[in-house]
Amino acid sequence: MKYYKYVVLGGGIAALSAVKAIRERDRTSVILMISSEAVPCYSRPMLTKIPLPHYDVRNTFIEPVSWYENNGIDLLLSTDVISLDTSSESVVTDNGSFHYEKCIYALGAYNFIPPFKGKDLRNVFSLRTDRDLMAIRRGALKAEHAAIIGGGVIGLEAAFMLKDEGLDVTVIETAPFLMPRLLDEESSRYLQNRLNGINVITGAKVLGFSGSEVPRSVELEGADPVPAQLILISCGVRANTSIAANAGVSIGRAIIVDDHMRTNIPGILACGDCAEFNGMNTALWTQAVAEGQVAGANAAGGDEVYRGSDMALMLEAPSFSLYSDGDMGKKPGVSYTQTCTYGKLEPRFSINRKPEDLYERDFFIDGKMVGTFMLGNLRDMKKRKKEIFGQ
Ligand SMILES: Cc1cc2nc3c(=O)[nH]c(=O)nc-3n(C[C@H](O)[C@H](O)[C@H](O)COP(=O)(O)OP(=O)(O)OC[C@H]3O[C@@H](n4cnc5c(N)ncnc54)[C@H](O)[C@@H]3O)c2cc1C
Repeated sequence: MKYYKYVVLGGGIAALSAVKAIRERDRTSVILMISSEAVPCYSRPMLTKIPLPHYDVRNTFIEPVSWYENNGIDLLLSTDVISLDTSSESVVTDNGSFHYEKCIYALGAYNFIPPFKGKDLRNVFSLRTDRDLMAIRRGALKAEHAAIIGGGVIGLEAAFMLKDEGLDVTVIETAPFLMPRLLDEESSRYLQNRLNGINVITGAKVLGFSGSEVPRSVELEGADPVPAQLILISCGVRANTSIAANAGVSIGRAIIVDDHMRTNIPGILACGDCAEFNGMNTALWTQAVAEGQVAGANAAGGDEVYRGSDMALMLEAPSFSLYSDGDMGKKPGVSYTQTCTYGKLEPRFSINRKPEDLYERDFFIDGKMVGTFMLGNLRDMKKRKKEIFGQ
């Protein structure tokens, strides 16, 4: 069995950030990185941010293939981690077993698929990897109508992506309004009015998908079926914890880590979408980067502390931009004050130059701004970030 001082499980951004942090402190030990994907780490957020016909995963690699070779990283692709044995400090994969001295667990998350009738039909998808996207691209060629189940940021971005391909798109959301975990109803309705050309059904209960080989429609309780030959399920993610759980690692909603990204098992650290710190598992890119950096540094003998990370959310749609950051007034028992601004602004710099409408809602606790939601013109985004976080 081959020995490595560091074995990093996963090939996503948490894993890569950990590898980079190890390399900053330990220039010589060979690092093993194991991923079930066929390609090295790429930008997952870009899956929904590049027009479908132009998407090529190679253009979104975070580091080129040569970087891994040049930095002494043994990159094992298309390889599944099967189990972790903490007593012998080894990892079993479908491509051999490996001893570790430090193991960084960064296996990310998978898409949650509710048990809808017809979920296994062809052309019913969820989106997590470049392969999923390629399958969606092929499916879109044969479809006229698409339905997106779930009106969160990824669902909305995917809706615009498919609309750009000429499909008639309907977003179906169970909650009474879009993005309920983030937005209040008024902000959400304002957002919904900006989704030009996309149909939205809220407060809907999906019963399943009808059709024989491919779907024909989405069946809803107490409402007309929604025609769809392509369905994308975007109902959130679940942390990949089972391998850790079987090895005796403590799990809450995800793998429980302390502020050094240590698990309860000595020698095993965890980070990214599979990890939970302070009861929080936000499943965001910036968090995966920050946690990966701390895990890697500490695996290599450092004493880095994770203090939480940027929770900003951005959505770039053809007709508007959206930005939210900080505390969006949702903590129970906390007394917030709010200000809300609507308006038309003179064209000046904006990330999305076209819309000059502004909708902004700011949240305050004891007079201090703690969160913001902006839609339309994002010209004050940096100013707000500074006001909230003081940096
Ligand atoms: C379409 C889309 C859009 C997004 N947009 C945004 C955005 O705008 N902003 C934002 O902040 N976040 C966004 N996210 C979320 C963000 O991409 C994730 O938070 C981030 O990628 C998490 O990184 P990670 O390394 O923890 O996990 P992952 O990226 O999930 O990486 C986990 C890795 O582990 C591998 N793996 C899993 N199980 C095994 C196994 N048994 N054996 C071997 N390998 C295994 C996987 O193949 C993968 O390579 C988006 C996600 C998606 C899917």
